Amino acid sequence: MIDWVALGDETVDLLRRYLMIDTTNPPGNEIAGVRFLAEVLARDGIESETIEAAPGRASLRAKLAGDGSLGGIVLHHHIDVVYADRRYWTVDPFGGAIADGYLYGRGAIDMKSTGILHLAALLALKRARVPLKRDLVFLATADEEAGSEYGAQFIADRRRDWLAGAEYAISELAVIQTHSSLKAPLGAIVISEKTGLALVLTARGEPGHGSMPWPDTAPNRLVRALNRLLEAERPPRVLPEVQEFFTRVAGLMWGESGAGYDDLDRSLRDPEFRARFLSNRQYAAMVRTTFAVTMLRGSEKSNVIPPEATAQLDCRMLAGDDPEEIAAWVRGVIADEHVQVSIAREPKIPNLSPPDTELYKAMADALRRRAPGVVVAPMILVAFTDNWVFRRCGLHGYGFSPFIVDEAEVQRIHGNDERISLENLRESARVYTEMLMKVAGA
Ligand SMILES: [Zn+2]
Repeated sequence: MIDWVALGDETVDLLRRYLMIDTTNPPGNEIAGVRFLAEVLARDGIESETIEAAPGRASLRAKLAGDGSLGGIVLHHHIDVVYADRRYWTVDPFGGAIADGYLYGRGAIDMKSTGILHLAALLALKRARVPLKRDLVFLATADEEAGSEYGAQFIADRRRDWLAGAEYAISELAVIQTHSSLKAPLGAIVISEKTGLALVLTARGEPGHGSMPWPDTAPNRLVRALNRLLEAERPPRVLPEVQEFFTRVAGLMWGESGAGYDDLDRSLRDPEFRARFLSNRQYAAMVRTTFAVTMLRGSEKSNVIPPEATAQLDCRMLAGDDPEEIAAWVRGVIADEHVQVSIAREPKIPNLSPPDTELYKAMADALRRRAPGVVVAPMILVAFTDNWVFRRCGLHGYGFSPFIVDEAEVQRIHGNDERISLENLRESARVYTEMLMKVAGA
C-alpha cells in the first residue's frame, strides 16, 4: 500500500530541492539537475542513464519495466527554466521559499513540478512493487525553453533507443483552470501545439546619405511592407479540435457570454463577435496563423541609409498549415518585389494526437477525480513543447497535469513569483500515481 501523506511530503521536499538548482536557459547547465535526479533514483535502486549533447547540457532517462504486453509511457519534463528577473521577485527564485502554503521558485509550474510528480510516481510504484503492463520511462530533457536542440531533438536524433517500445509521451502545460468567468473548472489536455515558422523580410535598395532621403530606401520599403502585413487579415481557421474546446468552454460560461462559441466558423463572420473574440490574445492565436514582428535591423549608423533592412517574424502555424503557402501569402500581401520573403530555418510542421486513446481517457478520469465537476477538453496549445518532437518519433504526445490553478497563478508562469500550492503538489502526486497504476498496472 502507498502512504499518500508520506508521498505528498516527499514530493514537496523533492521539488523544493529541485527548484534550488539554477537551470536557467541559457546556459541551462541541466547537468546539475540530472545529478540530483540520478541520486534520488539511485537511492531507490532505480538506474538511470545520462547523455550530454554539449558540455553541461545533459538529459536523463530511467525506466520501470513493464511486462511488454502494452506500449510504454514516456513521462517527460524539461529541466531548464526561463530567466527570472530577481528585481521583480519578492523571494529568491532559486531559494526554495515556502510561505502561506505555497512553494516558490522558477520552474514551480513550468515545469519542474510536473517532473517531480513523475519522479514521485515512479518511486511510489517501485516501492509498492506494482506489476506493470507498460514500461514507465522517466525522461528529463535539456533545452526545451530554447528550442530543444540539446534535449528532445538530440534524443530523437541520437538516442531513439530511449523511446523504444513506447506508445505515449506525457508532458506539460495543461492544468485544471479555475476562472471567474467560468462556472466550473476547465481541465485541458493538450493534444497539439502550434509550431514556429521563422520568416525573414529583407528589403533592398540604393544606399545613401541620411541628409537626402528618398521614398524607396530599403528601410522605408521594409516599414511599408510590415504595415501591409500587419493590416492584412489572414482568415481564421477553426480546427475541429479547437471547435470542440470552445464548445466545452461555452458550456462553462455565465449567462450569454458563451453565445456563438458553439459554431465559431459562422460566428467569426459576424464583425462584432469577431472583434470581441479576437481581442482575447490566446483565443485569437488558437484560430489563426499569427505573425509577430520580433527583430528589426537597418543601418549601423544613424546618418547612413543602408542597402538592406531586415525584419524577423515569429510566425506560428496551426495543424494543416503549409509553410510555402504562408510565405506566398505574405509575399502577395506585401506586393513589393524589392522585399524578399524567406523561410530562415527548416519549419516545424504541426502534429496532433487523437483525444480518444486509452491514455487520454485515463487522464480525463484523473482530472475528474482531482476536481469533481471539471469539464475536460482537448486543447491545442499556442506555445511549443517537446511533445512535437516525440510525436514525430511515432508516439501519441499529450500535455497533462492535475494542478488546479487560478487565473492569477497562470500569469506567474514565465513571470514573477512563480509558485505552486503545497495542496496541489500533495494531491497531484496521488492523482498522477493512481492514473499511472490504472493505465499501466497489470
Ligand atoms: Zn515548459
